[in-house]
Amino acid sequence: MTDPHSGLTGLEQARAKYRAERDKRLDPHRADTLDLGRHGGFLDDPYTEFADREPRHDDVDALVVGAGFGGLMAAAHLRAAGLERVRVVEKAGDVGGVWYWNRYPAAQCDVESFVYLPFLEELGYVPRHRYSFAPEIFAYTQMLAKHFGVYELGLFQTAVTGLRWDEGAAHWRVSTDRGDEFGARYVVVTHGSFASPKLPAIPGIETFEGRMFHTSRWDYTYTGGDSQSALTKLGDQTVGVIGTGATAIQIVSPLAASAERLYVFQRTPSTVAERNNSETDPEWANALEPGWQKRRRENFTLITNGEHVDEDLVGDAWTVFYRAMLGDVFADLSPQERALKREELDLRHMDNIRARVDAIIRDPEVAEKLKPYYRYQCKRPAFHDEYLQAFNRPSVTLVDTNGRGVERITAQGVVANGTEYRLDALIFATGFDQDASYTDRVGFDVTGAGGLRLSEKWAGGPETFHGVMTSGFPNFFFLPTTNMQGSAGVNFVHTLEETDIHIAAVIAELERRGVVADPDKAAEDAYVEKVAGGAGLALLGSGRFLEDCTPGRWNNEGRPAERNPKRANYPGTSTQYFRYLAEWRAAGDLAGLRLTPAHRRT
Ligand code: NAP
Repeated sequence: MTDPHSGLTGLEQARAKYRAERDKRLDPHRADTLDLGRHGGFLDDPYTEFADREPRHDDVDALVVGAGFGGLMAAAHLRAAGLERVRVVEKAGDVGGVWYWNRYPAAQCDVESFVYLPFLEELGYVPRHRYSFAPEIFAYTQMLAKHFGVYELGLFQTAVTGLRWDEGAAHWRVSTDRGDEFGARYVVVTHGSFASPKLPAIPGIETFEGRMFHTSRWDYTYTGGDSQSALTKLGDQTVGVIGTGATAIQIVSPLAASAERLYVFQRTPSTVAERNNSETDPEWANALEPGWQKRRRENFTLITNGEHVDEDLVGDAWTVFYRAMLGDVFADLSPQERALKREELDLRHMDNIRARVDAIIRDPEVAEKLKPYYRYQCKRPAFHDEYLQAFNRPSVTLVDTNGRGVERITAQGVVANGTEYRLDALIFATGFDQDASYTDRVGFDVTGAGGLRLSEKWAGGPETFHGVMTSGFPNFFFLPTTNMQGSAGVNFVHTLEETDIHIAAVIAELERRGVVADPDKAAEDAYVEKVAGGAGLALLGSGRFLEDCTPGRWNNEGRPAERNPKRANYPGTSTQYFRYLAEWRAAGDLAGLRLTPAHRRT
């Protein structure tokens, strides 16, 4: 419909509004972060008492760095491939990865548990809810660790400090911050994208005199309660939350229910659709046929990758949206027509998201500020049935900063839009650093063949062979993190497992042949070129899509053309990436790997 005043169609009006909202946020410093090394308290583990232990001096077959889902599945698949001594080393006090750290109130997974949690059939486990809460997921990672023997050789509260390739012995020398020194024939680093809490570089942060913590280090001694119950110590406290991403969406309603006052500082509103969680129906679970999880998980990934399926086995908000937007429904249209149709559908979807805000929020001014103005896939969508409602409470104030973010932090509170908000506590729901160099994020450097250091090799961006190895670093493997030339996907645990399966299969073949593998530099260069020339995330078929999106990590904070082309994913969907790896494996010749005999130490 055309607007009689502006003469613009609905789509043109939306485009103009989206562009204006994007432009407000194009601040070159919007992603600046604080050096957490200088603010160490933010990284302390509030969940596990430190335990002394003797250093280890031994040899293992494989070292797995990290005990989140990626590391647990790596250990499982390496054991299945025949390696007996697989040691997981983990900084945290237990397994779980993001589910160890993120114990904030009412934390929940927004991907359906039946496709998210791996090995459900093997463990005979039925998740309690369709969308699991964090304590259940954490407990499930412990079950997996027991099932796959991870605790036996595992080292916890331990950070790897160095990895050095020992050419003569053809194995890695591993050192840790607990004095361990051991050998490992293979290394698999599974450090995830959400392992380094991010604190934005807001001036004055060090001057705040109240309580301050990041959501991934929740301070229950201060708030009282736990992840599933009321925060009993907040009844006389004024609390501020910075950020309105998927994490903030989950913590706002428990904080609103417990704190005397709550201020939520918003830079960009998220899309918040209905959650509609439910308990698992035992009859439904009992009736599932063997092999159901693999089918269901692959079906979900195919749909969210825009591939054709005959049946939608999950049928939730993710799949319904992706089927409408990316499936083959527009197969007969030209690329331009398809892009236009998708833009129209997106607008309808976003109009519904905005209408939901109007339907829930009583104050129209607050409602307007909570409405997201960008295309649906510009940001990770959020789902919640109590977040928006919290803003109807008189004790809750939304401080919208009109895209600018808060100005500064003082001894007493936070300054935004020129006003100081006095706070007893400030909670950073500001996400995770995914842009620092790989070696900075994992916290150690790797010294490969001939003394080559990974930090130096990747100074200009990652250079990988298939997103899992890098030349000059024999028998060294890693799982994908954001834009590391591997792949991503809505159900990231699926991507991690497919990559783990690939790595374990390569290692099994090296074992069979008795060789060490180092990617050939020319083969690596060819892969890097393939990645760097790819279209990245522009799945919607419009070259302008990322350019027009609200700034965020998927479009290099609003400047997609300036991104380092090496900092990209495999140029295609995760399904295409899995196929690419599987075809390479099926060829059986380990093409692109330089193989030399392994000299086993006795
Ligand atoms: P996030 O998505 O990175 O959100 C960070 C929030 O902090 C954004 O609202 C951001 O605003 C805001 N922010 C950053 N710097 C700021 C500044 N200087 N001033 C004001 N605001 C600032 O982090 P997250 O919510 O922790 O989520 C991290 C990842 O975990 C996401 O991929 C998410 O999908 C995932 N996650 C999933 C679930 C789930 O399964 N349900 C739950 C939680 C998290 P802008 O939007 O303007 O940048």
